[in-house]
Amino acid sequence: MRRFTVSLKGTRRCARRTAKPSAFTLVELLVVISIIALLIAILIPSLQKARQQALTVTCQSNLRQQLIGVSVYASEYNGYFPVGKNFDWEKFTYPKLTFADYIQDVLIPYLGGQRGDANPDVDFSGVFRCPAVERLASHDWMTEPEQNHYRYNTHKAILHEKGSGRAAGTVRSPSGAVLFYDLMFPDWRPKDFPHGGGTPLINVGYVDSHVSTVTATEYYDASPFAPHRDEAGNVFVSKGWDTICGG
Ligand SMILES: [Zn+2]
Repeated sequence: MRRFTVSLKGTRRCARRTAKPSAFTLVELLVVISIIALLIAILIPSLQKARQQALTVTCQSNLRQQLIGVSVYASEYNGYFPVGKNFDWEKFTYPKLTFADYIQDVLIPYLGGQRGDANPDVDFSGVFRCPAVERLASHDWMTEPEQNHYRYNTHKAILHEKGSGRAAGTVRSPSGAVLFYDLMFPDWRPKDFPHGGGTPLINVGYVDSHVSTVTATEYYDASPFAPHRDEAGNVFVSKGWDTICGG
């Protein structure tokens, strides 16, 4: 009997608690929703910026490895740059270097691997793939597995079509001479630039092995194909390459 009384009191207490008004009013709910929306609005741009920066860091690391590959190659070949087929800005085509391999095949042994042609199992494609270009994929062929997403400056690092690579020591301004750069064609507009999002950027590796980022303005102002230019000058890939002697 006594036990029943205690139990009844407990039930009454519970009933009193549940009778309180509901936890959230409509206004409170709207406030919470607007705070969440505000947080999302604040966080998403910074998350996108962080992702852009992560892609840039990976891209620059790729460029550094390619520059290391060229340095090791040059030290083995009396200071001469490798001859590698790649896009020729002057002729706006791939050079007819029938004896030359693509630059990625030339560099693979100097990056600790074996030639891709000789040993397809060794995959160094990551070093030659810009994650931002891969993501952008504004042209279908960009995602093809064998694409090299970087340009080797065949226009300046090679003496002539049937010659050797140029002697690295004859470059007058190694810190200003572009050796590798992100995949870009001169007729592409800033929206096609792989890096930077709203501020179009391009990553560049220089003869002295440092890596830097240039703006679309710098890139296009120095391009002979820019709309306001009517004569070839190719300043972007030519600057810094003046010969000290005999180069
Ligand atoms: Zn890149």
